[in-house]
Amino acid sequence: MTEAVQTSSTFTPRVFSGIQPSGGLTLGNYLGAMKRFVDMQEAGTHETVYCMVDLHAITVWQDPDKLRRATRELCAGFIAAGIDPAKSILFNQSAVPEHAQLAWIFNCVARMGWMQRMTQWKDKAGKNAQNASLGLFAYPALMAADILIYHATHVPVGEDQKQHLELTRDVAIKFNHDYGVDFFPVTEPVIEGAATRVMSFRDGTKKMSKSDPSDASRINMTDDADTIAKKIRKAKTDPEALPSEVKGLEERPEARNLVNIYAGLSGLTVDQVLADVGGKQFSEFKPMLSELAVAKLAPISTEMARLMQEQDEIDKILAQGAGQAREIAAPILKKTYEIVGMVGA
Ligand code: ATP
Ligand code: MG
Repeated sequence: MTEAVQTSSTFTPRVFSGIQPSGGLTLGNYLGAMKRFVDMQEAGTHETVYCMVDLHAITVWQDPDKLRRATRELCAGFIAAGIDPAKSILFNQSAVPEHAQLAWIFNCVARMGWMQRMTQWKDKAGKNAQNASLGLFAYPALMAADILIYHATHVPVGEDQKQHLELTRDVAIKFNHDYGVDFFPVTEPVIEGAATRVMSFRDGTKKMSKSDPSDASRINMTDDADTIAKKIRKAKTDPEALPSEVKGLEERPEARNLVNIYAGLSGLTVDQVLADVGGKQFSEFKPMLSELAVAKLAPISTEMARLMQEQDEIDKILAQGAGQAREIAAPILKKTYEIVGMVGA
């Protein structure tokens, strides 16, 4: 089986990305990640592998029952948004033990200093770093393993994950160098579109997150039309009218955020949106944005709710996806063990 493992420039074009079941999906996850996962699946240029990263979720405390539910709901979200298990491999991380096994190897490749520089670690551990889990600190090594266990060549993510992808590249380069091989690809991040960093509705300098304690800070994929309209109406803005050009958004993070969201949802560029809405007050623009958000999100949330009634079907899809994922992951782990010098690999 190891003979099938590729090296160097022969890597199959393959996309990997994941989302944590650490809460419900947000508009940020949808525009920055999920929608683009679907685009890459539909482009048909790459094999696509998508994962509910439950092992990442437990780097901060998760209630076990809520975690199980969030994992299945996330799977429903993937499918409702357009991920087709016949076209993409869809599974939960813990069902493919090779992720955690490769992560251990990478714990021994990555350096303490690399981890200490990660802004996600600093943001999430906060002032209480001594009391944060070791897993939260090691998170980027597991993420490198998630990607490299598939020899993934491209990883679509939001802007916030850019630094972790640079670390993934550093892990691949250092592993290849330390062992004198050309085994792991140096993965390309794919951070594209108008909404690669959707910001909180409460604070235009903070990203929208599913784990933010304030529900008003985000739109959840499961919010109903009234809730979406209310959250957009209450979203922090400034008193000025919208500008007609991108330059006019420079010092206005909240205005920029709402325009970016409009662009992301409509598929228009920011320039095109501003050509249309420049000069309008927020009192006029916000209802337009609500209407668009409801039109795009309601069919997804309705389908998610329907799928959640079919738990057996979801579990079957996940089990099948895990089987397909292991077919790729197992030979790559075996070869890694051989390279590292593990007897019996
Ligand atoms: P958590 O708060 O638990 O970290 P999260 O909302 O940040 O949750 P993740 O599961 O960490 O979600 O990230 C999943 C994907 O969504 C990643 O590709 C990430 O870059 C993207 N993403 C997360 N938040 C945003 C955002 N506000 N704008 C654009 N993309 C985002
Ligand atoms: Mg996150």
